[in-house]
Amino acid sequence: MTDERRHERSGMVETQLRARGVADERVLAAMAEVPRHWFLDDPSSADAYADRPLPIGERQTISQPYMVASMTELLGLTGAERVLEIGTGSGYQTAILSRLAAEVFTVERIATLSGRARAVLARLPATNVRLRVGDGTAGWPEEAPFDAVLVTAATPGVPPALLDQLADPGVLVAPVGDRIVQDLVRIRRERGRDRRETFFRCVFVPLVGADGFPEDS
Ligand code: SAH
Repeated sequence: MTDERRHERSGMVETQLRARGVADERVLAAMAEVPRHWFLDDPSSADAYADRPLPIGERQTISQPYMVASMTELLGLTGAERVLEIGTGSGYQTAILSRLAAEVFTVERIATLSGRARAVLARLPATNVRLRVGDGTAGWPEEAPFDAVLVTAATPGVPPALLDQLADPGVLVAPVGDRIVQDLVRIRRERGRDRRETFFRCVFVPLVGADGFPEDS
């Protein structure tokens, strides 16, 4: 992909991810490969590989590396899946998913962010990604079903359309809670049954849409 700042990425993988229990070698390899700094507002930022979320414009953020890695690990991807991501943002999480699955479909409500993400993904290149601008709480019905669904913005509940578009077997991960703090939730569907587990507390920007939070609250 690129050797730029490779050393910082390996440091990030060892100290922020492996040391904290991220164990999926495919996830760790993807995090070591994808140049996170390309996805920032300021690609020369000294903080590109720091242990925290960073601004990407439009009052949105690129998630902390540990959050990206943990959410991805919870999906348990093998390489064959069709994945739906809600909240493209910078496209960084999309790029990680694109290395670990067959196809990635990603929806973003802010057109400027989607446009910038598209350009960076083309530069990588990530050729198995399709981007769409719109309200992701409605999913992407034309491309359903999806083996995995990842919501990367805080939602008051799992939008029903996303459960409708989940395959069986399938897995969905989302931060569910209020605007301030959420719980990372995983729903695993198997033989017609959905099992729900809660992992850890997290803080995401809100999912704004018909089945998310209202724009102005
Ligand atoms: N995965 C991103 C994180 C982006 S933050 C990354 O790696 O950079 C969450 C994103 O969700 C923001 O870009 C926000 O604009 C977007 N978002 C919020 N509500 C949305 C909705 N209803 N549909 C699609 N995207 C939404």
